[in-house]
Amino acid sequence: PPYADYIRDRIRTVPDWPQAGVQFRDITPLLQDKKTFRVLVDIFVHRYMDLDLDIVAGVDARGFILGAVVAYELNLGFVPVRKKGKLPFLTVAEEYELEYGSATVEIHTDACKRGDRVLLIDDLVATGGTMVAAAKLLNRLGATIVEAAAIVDLPELGGSKIVREQGITLFTVCD
Ligand code: 5GP
Repeated sequence: PPYADYIRDRIRTVPDWPQAGVQFRDITPLLQDKKTFRVLVDIFVHRYMDLDLDIVAGVDARGFILGAVVAYELNLGFVPVRKKGKLPFLTVAEEYELEYGSATVEIHTDACKRGDRVLLIDDLVATGGTMVAAAKLLNRLGATIVEAAAIVDLPELGGSKIVREQGITLFTVCD
């Protein structure tokens, strides 16, 4: 999309973090700069403003930052998809495989209603495991995922392909 280069230029790659061999994409410079943060939010607001959405779901933790602002701008509510053990009320959970071990995401059972049209937001798609698990949670509550969206795709890790193979429409701003 337009602005992809502008956004990409404000994402910092940190070598060997959190472990050796990983090139971590750090989005904090993008959020910190008032102009890139506004451009970023506006990309999402313009894309989704006419899609008759019911709710925005954001993924723990960087998906909360963008997701909550986009929800507010779209005049929608926001629901968190959280890592295991953080949500106080009744939850549904999805476990998924990581390179080493597994992770679990959870959502409150009343986070959305059957038939709700949901926008699912995270900051980045790597292996796709998190986005697919979050989507499964929303599907289990009977919601329709209108689109899953992230700022960054790391296509060489194959995650965006896996997300799309699950029948989920995926939008990312840059790679
Ligand atoms: P996946 O489940 O697709 O392998 O990993 C994506 C999840 O891990 C997202 O929730 C994202 O926040 C986090 N993540 C993995 N790698 C990176 C990275 O390089 N940069 C950032 N900002 N987040 C990452």
